[in-house]
Amino acid sequence: MAKEEKIAIYPGSFDPITKGHLDILQRASAMFDKVIIAVLKNSRKTSFIPVKDRVELIKKSVQGIENVDVAYFEGLTVDYARKTGAKFLIRGLRAVSDFEYEMQLSQANMSVAPEIGTVFLITKPEYNFISSGIVKELAQYGEDISKFVPQSVAEYFKQS
Ligand code: ADP
Repeated sequence: MAKEEKIAIYPGSFDPITKGHLDILQRASAMFDKVIIAVLKNSRKTSFIPVKDRVELIKKSVQGIENVDVAYFEGLTVDYARKTGAKFLIRGLRAVSDFEYEMQLSQANMSVAPEIGTVFLITKPEYNFISSGIVKELAQYGEDISKFVPQSVAEYFKQS
């Protein structure tokens, strides 16, 4: 019998993608046959970067990784996962402060979609403090953010 392809979704705002996100993605891509980075287009939360630009920036950043797709979605993550055939969600954990929210979210998902599991990967210590929010704050005041983000993102902020 043919083995079922193991597909995982890595959902998030990615506003913008950072080296912390990329590290989680690289490790997830070694664990699954396919990883789909799913960028949330949230109609209630305003984003800094338009969703299509967020997707483009991610596409440029993941060119070297073969089994990664990038797309955006609206609505519930588990509904999107079902549509793509993914049975796993990837989430990254930085500090204990992430844990409480992530546990709630994963238990809510578990309750509405018991066939979909969440896999948590712990961030590398050097990326622990990096968040999209901090990157935006630093960029806004003219700081060099190239240490924290892929090159495509650093260039995007220089232009805007
Ligand atoms: P969301 O709005 O869903 O939290 P984010 O883009 O901020 O979207 O984050 C997506 C996922 O990536 C979350 O699981 C978050 O904890 C994780 N993440 C964000 N920054 C890092 C980092 N520096 N190291 C590891 N994981 C991270």
